Formats: sequence, structure tokens, C-alpha cells
Amino acid sequence: MAYATTNPYTNETLATFQGIGDEELDQAVHTAQRTFESWRTKSFDERKEVVGRAASILRERPDEFARLLTLEMGKLYSESMGEVDLAASILDYYADNAEEFLAPERVATEHPDAGEAVVVSDPIGVLLGVQPWNFPYYQLARFAGPNLMAGNVVMVKHASIVPQSAAAFERLFREAGAPEGAYTNVYASKDQVSRTIRDSRIRGVALTGSEGAGASVAAHAGEELKKSTLELGGSDALIVLADADLDLSVERALWGRLNNAGQSCVAAKRIIVVEEVADEFLRRFSEGFARLKAGDPFDSDTTLPPLSSQSAADDLDALVDEAVDHGALMITPGDPVPEEGAFVQPRILTGVSRDNPVYDKEFFGPVALFFRAADEDEAVRIANDSTFGLGGSVFTEDTAHGVEVAKRIETGMVFVNHPTWTRPDLPFGGTKRSGYGQELSEAGIQEFVNKKLINVMPTG
Ligand code: NAP
Repeated sequence: MAYATTNPYTNETLATFQGIGDEELDQAVHTAQRTFESWRTKSFDERKEVVGRAASILRERPDEFARLLTLEMGKLYSESMGEVDLAASILDYYADNAEEFLAPERVATEHPDAGEAVVVSDPIGVLLGVQPWNFPYYQLARFAGPNLMAGNVVMVKHASIVPQSAAAFERLFREAGAPEGAYTNVYASKDQVSRTIRDSRIRGVALTGSEGAGASVAAHAGEELKKSTLELGGSDALIVLADADLDLSVERALWGRLNNAGQSCVAAKRIIVVEEVADEFLRRFSEGFARLKAGDPFDSDTTLPPLSSQSAADDLDALVDEAVDHGALMITPGDPVPEEGAFVQPRILTGVSRDNPVYDKEFFGPVALFFRAADEDEAVRIANDSTFGLGGSVFTEDTAHGVEVAKRIETGMVFVNHPTWTRPDLPFGGTKRSGYGQELSEAGIQEFVNKKLINVMPTG
């Protein structure tokens, strides 16, 4: 797809961008490789100056960065401002903690002849990040922050619908003092991504996106025996047990399903409520949907913005039609959304049976799948009956019991009394078809470093 800014509120294309040529891309990899040789020798304090400064710039001028997100992918302006702040927090987190996370570790060995053994963390080189449009800066921060602090350099192929946001992040790092080649944005095609992964100067690749993109990128990385991490889709279950605080559960479930217009990998896409409270929960949950106000994402009264693009909206509408064609029941609680713009009517689907072709699909927008479970065991069974394994949540007043239920859920993250969410210091990642590897927290900085053993042997 060509790189272009199309405002999803109006569907007007505002700017298009030339894709990078093969020679220019080769030169960019060359520059990145050359910069790596010097960047790797910098002290943590020197790298911190750049990464920490980038965080400060985001905090000093949030509006400048936030506007681009709302313009290009339509998220509420208030959410764009929140994302800028989150991206800054991630950069600060790694600027402040990288040295400690990557400090040499003495290896305890009991063998008398083992000498002194230590494991050091070396950067590995130029990394390629392939990133999605749904949280354009957050994604870039969680890829670039840890890796730049670890001494790697990064190249980024961002989603083709957010070219200005992508360029803004590259400018951010240059303004913060990063040398040319430390952070490089490339408007690359999928073929160029495939070829770049095969380039011997690229030492690892991190992708966040769909299963199809993940499979392609991982296959190329695998052929070249390169490290990859994949953060893919999800269909998180939000389980509500009989003793849950219903007000809290409904309020948080609404947020979990609808924040970012429902376009989050960890959105609460499947709401699973035990029979005793199912009717009451559904009633209140539907009321929450009915209160949504569709409109201009820059308008502070708007609570339902358009999706990221008309094609995303069309795909989701088609998925809802498919669900209904195969027996699902549809609840449409609110007023009709505007006809112009990439809006999707918020809906709740009940009665999605196991043989419905959409049963295991990811609903990327304001559409919730609602399931009734006879009891807790059935709720857990439904939650685990998914090819995805990203996040999930359990609502109960008995938090100790909530932890026990969480242990039974087959995902990379489970929250008790909150939908899955993210912070710089919490590990983020999935299992099953949601991918492998982790981002954020200490775990995120350990993915693309060479854990090298240095063993000083006794000479006597
Ligand atoms: P997507 O189509 O896979 O796009 C993601 C990125 O991959 C874009 O930059 C895209 O480029 C690129 N891409 C697509 N196919 C490719 C290929 N064959 N080779 C190389 N690059 C390729 O995903 P999306 O639909 O835009 O994004 C939403 C998906 O991301 C959802 O499934 C969501 O759950 C997932 N996601 C996961 C996480 C997580 O942490 N687990 C976080 C956010 C989103 P173009 O834009 O040029 O097509």
C-alpha cells in the first residue's frame, strides 16, 4: 500500500509519500550499520542523554505530536495526548533503568575449577521494527527505547497509513541528539521489508501486527537464522464472576472494549459473564454502548471516533454480517453513526456459537462478543477456547481467588479487576497465535542483546 495520510473522519487524502527506493534503502542500512559501530561504544549516560531528551521533547510539545495521531488514524485527541505521555514514560523508563537491567551478572558456579564467570549484555546491531498504526508512538517507543539504550540502532517500517506520525518520531530522535542512522524511518514496501530482513547487516526483527504479517516476517527471519519477536493479535476474554462488583466490571469492560475505538490488540473482545449476573451485566453494558457519541475525534464531546480507515471499517462490518449470517444475535444499542467517515456502528453480538466462522476472529473495533457461562469453569473454558493467547481479565471481589482463576487462563497477561493494559514496567507479550517474545519492562530490553559469557579461569 502507498504511504498516505487519509483523515478517517472525512476520508479525505491529505498527503501522499514516495516509497523509499532500493538504493536509498541500501544506503540507509549502510548508515545504520556504520552508526552502530560508534553508538555501541557510548556509555549508558551518553545514550540516556538522547533517549531521555526525546521523552522531554514529547512532554514539552505533546499537542504537536498528538495532533498527527488523531489526524492520521482518527483516535480521540484526548487518547492521542495520553499516548504521547505513555511513549515519553517508556523512553524515560529505559533511559533511567537500562544500565541496571544490563549490568554484568556474576555466574554462581560451585565447581572449584570454574574461575570467575560473568555474563555481559552486548548489543547485536541494526534491528528492523515493523509496526502497526493503532498506537503509532507507543509502539515506536517500546521498540526504540530499550534497543537504543542497549546500544543497538533501529530502523522502522511503520504502517502505511501513519506516515507523518512515523516521520515525527524520527525527527524527535534527531532533535534529541541521536546521530544519523541511530533511528531511521523508512517508507518501505513489504518486498523491501522481506529483502531487508535477509540483509546480513540486519541482526534482528521485531514485528507488531497481524498473524499474516507475523508469519511472513518470522519466516524470512527464520531462513536467515535471525532473532525475531512477534506481538500479534488477540481476542482477550474479560470474565465476570458472580461476586464481582458489577458497577466496576461494567465500567471497566466498556473501557476495555471501546478505548482506542476498540482497535487494541488487548481490547476486551470477548465478554464472558456467569449466568447469575449475565442479564444485569448485559443490560448495563448495552446502556454504556447507547451513551456513545460519534463525531469528530478532535471534539472533546466525542466518545466514539471513526476507525483508522474506511477499509478497516468495511472489514469489521463484513465480519459482523458474517457472524449474523451464521446465527449470532445482534444488539445495536445507540444512535446510528454518521454515514460519512470510517465509522462503525457499535454492536454487541450474543449467541456466537463454536461453529460460527467468526468464533475465533479478532473484532478490531467497537463490537463486543458476549458469552454466558453456566459457571466459573465454563467461563475459563470459553476464555481458553481461542487460538489467540494475548491477555485477559477476571472480575471478582475475592482477589485471591481471582489470581487462582488467572493461573488457569492460557495467555501472556491476565489482570484481576481490570482489562488488560500496559505500563512501561510491566512485561507485555502473548502466547499461542498471539506471538512470542516480550516488550516493555526489564524483559523487553533483554530480547535483542547477546548474553555473552566471560570466564576467567584459574591459572594455578
Ligand atoms: P498488519 O496489517 O499486520 O500491519 C502491521 C505492520 O506490518 C504494518 O506496518 C504493515 O505495513 C506491515 N505488514 C503487513 N504485512 C506485511 C508483510 N507481509 N511483510 C512485511 N510487513 C507487513 O496489522 P494491522 O491490521 O495494521 O494492525 C493491527 C494488528 O496488530 C491487530 O491484529 C492487532 O491485534 C495487532 N497488534 C498487536 C499488538 C501486540 O502487542 N500484540 C499491538 C498492537 C497491534 P502496511 O501498513 O504497509 O500494510
